[in-house]
Amino acid sequence: MPIRYRMEFMTQFWRNSVALSSDTMNKLCIGTLAVSRYHQLRRYFPVNDTPDYLDHDFPVGNGYKITPVGYMFLQPDKPSELTRDERGDYHFSFPRTGPLYMVNRVQKQSPLTIECHVNDLLTILKEEVSQGKTMVTLLTDNGPDWNVKSWTVLFFVLRIFKELNLDYSCLTSYAPGQSAYNPIEHAWSPLSRKLSGVTFPACAEGETVPPCNQTGLSEVEVAEKEKVIFTNAIESLNHFWNDMEFDGFPVRSSGVSTEQKFNDYELIHNLLSKGSKSMFRDHPDVLEGLRFISVHGDRQPGEFSIRKCTSRLCDYCLAHPIKATEALGLLESIGGVPNPFPNGSIDGAFASYMEAAQVQRVPSSVNLPPTKTSFLGSCSKCSGYMYMSRVDKLRHDAIVHGSHKRTQPKLNIRSPSKVSRR
Ligand SMILES: [Zn+2]
Ligand SMILES: [Zn+2]
Repeated sequence: MPIRYRMEFMTQFWRNSVALSSDTMNKLCIGTLAVSRYHQLRRYFPVNDTPDYLDHDFPVGNGYKITPVGYMFLQPDKPSELTRDERGDYHFSFPRTGPLYMVNRVQKQSPLTIECHVNDLLTILKEEVSQGKTMVTLLTDNGPDWNVKSWTVLFFVLRIFKELNLDYSCLTSYAPGQSAYNPIEHAWSPLSRKLSGVTFPACAEGETVPPCNQTGLSEVEVAEKEKVIFTNAIESLNHFWNDMEFDGFPVRSSGVSTEQKFNDYELIHNLLSKGSKSMFRDHPDVLEGLRFISVHGDRQPGEFSIRKCTSRLCDYCLAHPIKATEALGLLESIGGVPNPFPNGSIDGAFASYMEAAQVQRVPSSVNLPPTKTSFLGSCSKCSGYMYMSRVDKLRHDAIVHGSHKRTQPKLNIRSPSKVSRR
């Protein structure tokens, strides 16, 4: 339900908006059939020329797999017409398909993290943003690489926001079990079918054993051979997909861009997931990012958004004026993108987006079934920060607000060395 509201909001302000549906496809194998052999072969063979395909798909070497990540643009390129439902409510009809970008990386060279997505998006969104589209909404399945419970994910969303000078960005997801509604899921079947019977070689030219299984090679020699094999696999994959269309829109398939803006995932992730208050002192930029999020961010179950403010005291927003003024004006006046609430007159029905956009926003937890997170509430100092766990609450209060408050009296006595350092 909230997804519908997000999409109608983006459609209402289509001139300034980009909406993307994103997901990761099943991994493709290198060295054996790329996709399961249960994908039907859609080719015809003369009687004496039967197919000579592998009849097994045992994986070769650890990490000899391609992780294809898809990003599908859902934005309309013209004003959407208002449609009327059976109740007589008006809706912005939003698109459910569009141009598809596939970015393919080899698992062994680049494990998939939020940093990969951010690097991909910086390349993919550059042109749209240069045309004034400064509001970005991403629909995902809330998988681990996109999970808004993770501070690392919030921090990398902030990085896209600042790097592209966006006015608003929103990472939202389908409820668990509902990800099949994510429009990009429909593309996986035709993309897989295109690869039925295809094997990307795992051996160097003239060799019969993959480098990872050869004896007597140094690590550097293995990596050098693998680099050629993996590059060829990705190029070959792009060749299969680049001449495809999906729903009448072009498919663009590529390897990772050579410009990888961010390359510090391990450091950021370790700091944000485990770092103590003192460790943040050595990384003031990250701490500053967390504080920025606490003022400009809005986290609810399965969703995180961030937007520029209009405070005369905010150095960042003064230096980076809002471009999508009408849309941000609406968010400012009602307190964020609307959340669903019951339509007073019809039992079990929810207000339409148009109705919800005219009243002060209700907190997300009010009209949804109670979840573990909704019982923990939001930070009293930054109302947009909903606590996702007890640990999240303690760390947020301590690191962002420097709070020393303890819920229980501490009985053990500090060692003198710790006291003197404070
Ligand atoms: Zn601000
Ligand atoms: Zn707070």
